[in-house]
Amino acid sequence: RAAAVVVAFDGAGALADGQPVPLLANVGGAADAVAAASAHAEGVGLFRTEFCFLDRADAPSIDEQVAAYRGVLAAFPGRKVVVRTLDAGSDKPLPFANADHEDNPALGVRGLRIARRSPELLDDQLRALALAAEAESALVEVMAPMVSTVEEARDFAERCRSAGLARVGIMIETPSAALLAAELFEIVDFVSLGTNDLAQYTLAADRLLSELGDLNDPWQPAVLRLIGAVGDAGRAAGKPVGVCGEAGGDPALAPVLLGLGVTSLSMTSRALGRVAAELAEVDEATCRRAALAAIAASTAADARAAAAGELSGAL
Ligand code: PEP
Ligand code: MG
Repeated sequence: RAAAVVVAFDGAGALADGQPVPLLANVGGAADAVAAASAHAEGVGLFRTEFCFLDRADAPSIDEQVAAYRGVLAAFPGRKVVVRTLDAGSDKPLPFANADHEDNPALGVRGLRIARRSPELLDDQLRALALAAEAESALVEVMAPMVSTVEEARDFAERCRSAGLARVGIMIETPSAALLAAELFEIVDFVSLGTNDLAQYTLAADRLLSELGDLNDPWQPAVLRLIGAVGDAGRAAGKPVGVCGEAGGDPALAPVLLGLGVTSLSMTSRALGRVAAELAEVDEATCRRAALAAIAASTAADARAAAAGELSGAL
C-alpha cells in the first residue's frame, strides 16, 4: 500500500515559499528517540512518558525516571523535546496511578486529573524532568494531557515553574480546552493539539472502537473548527500551536492544519518524509485557502474534497 512507503526526510520541513515548518517526532522512549533522530526529526513534539512505565506495578523512583528521560533527551542534544507528563488511564492504565475500575475510563481520572488524587506523582515527575534536563543540558518543554479548565492549567503551570521547568504547555484534547484557548494562552507558553482525543471527545465516540472510525476522524468539521479556534487564539497570543495527534502525520491534512494556524507538526517518524514532501509543494496562501474550504464544509467527506480541490490546483 502507498501508505506503507517511507519517504526520506532531510531534516528541514518548509513550505514551497520557504517558510519553515518544524516537523517533530512522537516517541515513547529512548529506542524511539534514537530512531526519530536517525529519521532527521527536528526534535520531539510528544514524548509519551507513560510508555516508559506501562509494565510497572509501583511508581518509578525519581532516579529511575531521570534515567528514562535522559535516554530520550540524549538523542536530541540542543533540540526541542516536548515531554508530556503521565497520561495514565483510559486506553493506557498504569496500576500505580489509576483505580482498579471505572465505569467510563475515557471520562475518568486520567492524565492531569490524577494529580487531584496523587499530586506527589506529578511533582516527582516534574522534579525528575528538571534533573534530566539539567544533566543533558536539554531544551525540555513540558506539557500536561487531558486539561479541561483554566484552574487545571494554572495549577500545572505553577507546579512546573516551582520545579524549575520554564517552558510550560498543555495539550488541547477536550472541546472545553479548545473553546478556552484564549484564556489558556494567558497561562501557558504553548499548546499542542491531541487530535486523537479531541475527535473522540468532540464526536463522543470511543477511539478504541474501529466501528466508529468514521466519527473519530479529524476531518469532521466540528473538529476542524475547534482546531481553527485554537489556531486563531495562538495567532492572537503570538504563541505556538502544535499538533501531535495522528492528524499531524496525515499528508493530506497537514496543509489544512497549517492554514488553520498550527505552527508545528509532530508525528510518527515514518510519516516525516511524506508530510515534508507534501508541504514542499504548497505555499502559505494555498494552505489558508484549503483550511477555509475545509472548515466551511458540513461533512468530513466534503471537507476532504474541498481541501483536495484547493491543494490540487497548487500541485
Ligand atoms: C492525542 O490524543 O491526539 C494524543 C496525541 O495523545 P494520545 O494519543 O497519547 O492520547
Ligand atoms: Mg490524548
